[in-house]
Amino acid sequence: MKSVQYMEPKNGETLVHTTIIRNIGLLLTMRQDTNDLLGAVAHAAVVMRGPRIIYAGPEKDLPADYRSGGTCTEIDAHQAVVTPGLIDSHTHVVFAGDRADEFQARHAGADYEEIQRLNGGIHRTVRETRAASYQSLRAAAIERLQSMRRHGTTTVEGKTGYGLEYAAEEKVLNVMRALADEPYLPDVIPTFLGAHIIPAEFRNNRSLYVQHVIQNMAPAFQAQARFCDVYCEASAFSVPETKAILESARALGYMLKMHTNQSHDIGGAALAADLGVISADHLDYVQDEDIQKLAGAGVIATLLPGCSFSMQTAFPNAHRFLERGAVVALASDYNPGTCNCENLQMIMALAVAHCSLTIEQSLQAVTVNAAKALALPDRGHIAAGKRADALIWKIRDYREIGYHFGVNLVDQVIISGAVL
Ligand SMILES: [Zn+2]
Repeated sequence: MKSVQYMEPKNGETLVHTTIIRNIGLLLTMRQDTNDLLGAVAHAAVVMRGPRIIYAGPEKDLPADYRSGGTCTEIDAHQAVVTPGLIDSHTHVVFAGDRADEFQARHAGADYEEIQRLNGGIHRTVRETRAASYQSLRAAAIERLQSMRRHGTTTVEGKTGYGLEYAAEEKVLNVMRALADEPYLPDVIPTFLGAHIIPAEFRNNRSLYVQHVIQNMAPAFQAQARFCDVYCEASAFSVPETKAILESARALGYMLKMHTNQSHDIGGAALAADLGVISADHLDYVQDEDIQKLAGAGVIATLLPGCSFSMQTAFPNAHRFLERGAVVALASDYNPGTCNCENLQMIMALAVAHCSLTIEQSLQAVTVNAAKALALPDRGHIAAGKRADALIWKIRDYREIGYHFGVNLVDQVIISGAVL
């Protein structure tokens, strides 16, 4: 338990709206400067002015002048749990169509990589996304983001990678830019994943596609995407191809991410450590020595147990990462093929039940650690000066999360100071 400071509003901020959450039973600040993993404060209050938090701490220490200047809304949390907004640091939220039939076929015995080889799987979503209008892609993504928000997600990383040609990748990035400007939706952080798979028309000339990514698409999209990501896997891009794409992307100013070691170990995790990418994602099949290298390089290990659940494959064991000093994030990998789930509460439940994470570690993994996976230090914990993203839960004991699964335990969502 600890107290936190009050930040004076700066000049020019005096007329913005103030929101105060009172009567919080347990505030999980997720601050990292204490021995308590959750940075918990009992009988707490949070004050937000405009898009920023200005006070978080014991209600009895609430500054007397928190209402000063402008309008004020008070929310009674009725002794419930309050946490930072959840951060989904790996999604493919913009796409057309769905693959429910393939999902059911896989569970009836069909093989994922065989479906893909026959131009289903990602290739099918690529065809549908290329054919879809900007408007329809945007409308579908808004619906998904609204669902994510209802389940407590306030920041969503979104990848391209269902265009795989200049115009379609650009269309998806334009949709993400428009989504980022939508009020009351989770903040959308765009990632360029032109190297998702080799598109069907380049199947017999993969090096030409790699050159297209490096020479044409990555330079053109740098201003619109925070990260460049590559799917480094036996069925996607090799280690040398991944290295060439990511090194050129870094030179262009992108921060780097990798999908790697999902189904095989072809050396991607070691490359992620060598390159010092921000996050390496999946890591279902990875050797201990590569985990050690990732930890040493400060690469965030993002685990995606929703994929393991949906694909009926082995869950990653987070304990292997934690005992080697790696920082673990959790994300949904929301996508039409291998994890059609907008609900990070469900992902936390899977992590607790199958990945040997405690609920406290899972909460860290979708807040502070997920913020690190996006290199966004302004969020993921509740403290003065941070983004005003928070959740008021329906529960008074945070250990209900994961225990009471498959339902939505979030009551109210606050995004950038707006109460929803
Ligand atoms: Zn993914």
